[in-house]
Amino acid sequence: MVKDPVCGMMVDPEKAPAKTEYKGETYYFCAPGCKMAFEEDPERYLEGTEGAHGHHRMHHGH
Ligand SMILES: [Zn+2]
Repeated sequence: MVKDPVCGMMVDPEKAPAKTEYKGETYYFCAPGCKMAFEEDPERYLEGTEGAHGHHRMHHGH
């Protein structure tokens, strides 16, 4: 299982309805809408990597 970077849901790559590649990584999404949101602004959803410029939109402890 991998994490949908947009909404934080766990997604099974085998069954993911949407996926995209960004900077050599493949990301999986629970829905096409999440993929579209990601592609509009990938950096925003990639916390801890290159996207770490301050805003942690969906970042809550656990
Ligand atoms: Zn999602």
